[in-house]
Amino acid sequence: MSEVFDFISVGYTAYDFLTLVPGLPREDFKFEIDNLTIQGGGPSATAAVTASRLGLRAAFVGKVGDDYFGKMMIAELKKENVDTSRVVVEKGKSSQFAFIMINKKNASRTILWTRGTVTRLEPREIDHDFISSCRVLLVDDLEVTAAMKAASIARGAGIPVVIDAGSLRAGVEELLHYCDYIVASEVFADQISKEGINGALRKLASYGPRASVVTLGAGGCALDIDGETVLIPAFEVDAVDTTGAGDVFHGAFAYGVVASWDLRRTCIFANAVSAMKCTKIGGRAGIPTFDEAVRFIKKSYPEMDFPPVT
Ligand code: ADP
Repeated sequence: MSEVFDFISVGYTAYDFLTLVPGLPREDFKFEIDNLTIQGGGPSATAAVTASRLGLRAAFVGKVGDDYFGKMMIAELKKENVDTSRVVVEKGKSSQFAFIMINKKNASRTILWTRGTVTRLEPREIDHDFISSCRVLLVDDLEVTAAMKAASIARGAGIPVVIDAGSLRAGVEELLHYCDYIVASEVFADQISKEGINGALRKLASYGPRASVVTLGAGGCALDIDGETVLIPAFEVDAVDTTGAGDVFHGAFAYGVVASWDLRRTCIFANAVSAMKCTKIGGRAGIPTFDEAVRFIKKSYPEMDFPPVT
């Protein structure tokens, strides 16, 4: 199959309602809010938007209900030039959404979320030829059985697979065996190893990927280079909202995989793109273009080159 897309993600999408609050609410009180941002979200869908903004030909594969939120999620992806031709719209079902409180004091996000009544994406809904037409596949831990099918297709076609390992849900450990790049959250790292980041990186390496990385929020990210744990600090920004920082990191990381950069360069790039995201409210508003990201990185790493994907 010839290449049609640079990037395809298979996984979760959501519709996010975000509000800035001066602090987390107390139980049994009323709080008046004075702002609301509504934006598409979800790990795989936001990673696809990131890939597209950075200049990749991107597609998202997932499932939504045939309600207003489902329509809006698809419309936003299309507006971002993300192909949605393989998004399944399920009749009579309600879509995934989230209420997100962003703490003004530290930009942290507290999320109340639901999958709605839409069913999980099924392996039979994954199109072999479509998946085989990309240069990198991204999966998440929220649509595991479909992710497994897509990852095994990619494996068979020699396409690298990146996983956004956010939480250790049922089936995720098996899925890790099909992944070339395991990029895990700190929560996931804590769940798989009680021996800190070093222990988590060793454990992730035992699943046989080419590389494993743990993202550390404002601490940047940690990776394993030749058995040594290397910490790459985050970029300093005036962070207003960290919603979706991990999702954006994964989209940018996948860019580095397509560009065949070394791991350190890829992680510096992903740190930068996700830090820039944190300067705006919502998972997607702050995602930069490729040129914006490189200009931003050059202020800290003037000697470093980031040859774009061709
Ligand atoms: P997740 O949302 O999956 O838990 P993280 O919180 O680890 O992901 O964030 C992913 C990446 O986003 C980090 O590795 C870092 O590069 C960037 N990031 C997150 N928070 C900040 C921040 N406050 N300032 C700068 N960069 C940040």
